[in-house]
Amino acid sequence: MRTIGLIGGMSWESSAEYYRLINEDVKQRLGGLHSAQSILHTVDFAVIERMQHEGRWDAAGLLLADAARGLERAGAACIVLCTNTMHKMADVIAAAVSIPFMHIAEPTAAAIRARDIRRIGLLGTRFTMEESFYRGYLEQRFTLDVLVPDAEQRAIVNRVIYEELCLGLVRDESRAHYRAIMQHLVERGAEGIILGCTEITLLLSADDSAVPLFDTTRLHASAAVDFALG
Ligand code: GLU
Repeated sequence: MRTIGLIGGMSWESSAEYYRLINEDVKQRLGGLHSAQSILHTVDFAVIERMQHEGRWDAAGLLLADAARGLERAGAACIVLCTNTMHKMADVIAAAVSIPFMHIAEPTAAAIRARDIRRIGLLGTRFTMEESFYRGYLEQRFTLDVLVPDAEQRAIVNRVIYEELCLGLVRDESRAHYRAIMQHLVERGAEGIILGCTEITLLLSADDSAVPLFDTTRLHASAAVDFALG
């Protein structure tokens, strides 16, 4: 088994999910007392969040590149960055190491294409929904047609992530907002929805949507296990 290197803490609420999912998956695939070999480098999210909102992405990228180097030195065989948003700095982080960087959008896009879906809704932080680093990746590499909520709805989705889910707060009222926002995306033609923030899995399940949900946390964790056991 190869050792999975995780960069987490963005937020730790979702890193805990990665840790659980990866170990459950290995247990299910290998049985008995098997569990995943992994190393988790977890950062202080307050520092990262400040850098994001002050536009200091290069500094955040360097910090995460350092974490990746440390994981490689410690024996990790791959890097799993446990956040969609910080994939804005994926190139910098990947270039810092000689082991594979497992981009979160790869298994997500593969799962969408496997369902023969072309037009896909995207929920995430405002950075993920509005900038090209994530949407562009899906549109250009996988020829998906990505739909995002309107400006007012994007503000709600973003606020719930930073002010609730990253603090471990899961509210029925916010779930209702997300359900309505997803329904709008479906009315605009979305055939599926990407949960493009690693905390949204804490709020929503398949029952909340009329179309398939693509949970990036689960898909990324499963891809990491494929690599570890592959
Ligand atoms: N975990 C979230 C994501 O997947 C948001 C936190 C962050 O800004 O990294 O984008």
